[in-house]
Amino acid sequence: MSDLQTKLEKKQAIAIGIALQTQVMKACPVHRQLYFDDDVNPAGAFALAIELVRKHRPFVREFDDDEHALTDLLSDTLGMAPMCCPICNAPKPN
Ligand SMILES: [Zn+2]
Repeated sequence: MSDLQTKLEKKQAIAIGIALQTQVMKACPVHRQLYFDDDVNPAGAFALAIELVRKHRPFVREFDDDEHALTDLLSDTLGMAPMCCPICNAPKPN
């Protein structure tokens, strides 16, 4: 695995961590698959991301004080997440 890829994965893990903390993304309790909860306003996740960067929290040090890099990645991460668990369709079984 290249260093660049490792860095990207680290950054994506940070974005996912913020999304999970603000409940915009949730994990299926059975399959541990992450999904995007469209009932939750994603503004909270972006606000937290910006706050963490501005406060220089060690959690977001990979972003080098670049809050836009983090919010862009967060936006991509949310955009790519499925709307429910891909295995059981939780939380909206059909
Ligand atoms: Zn599931």
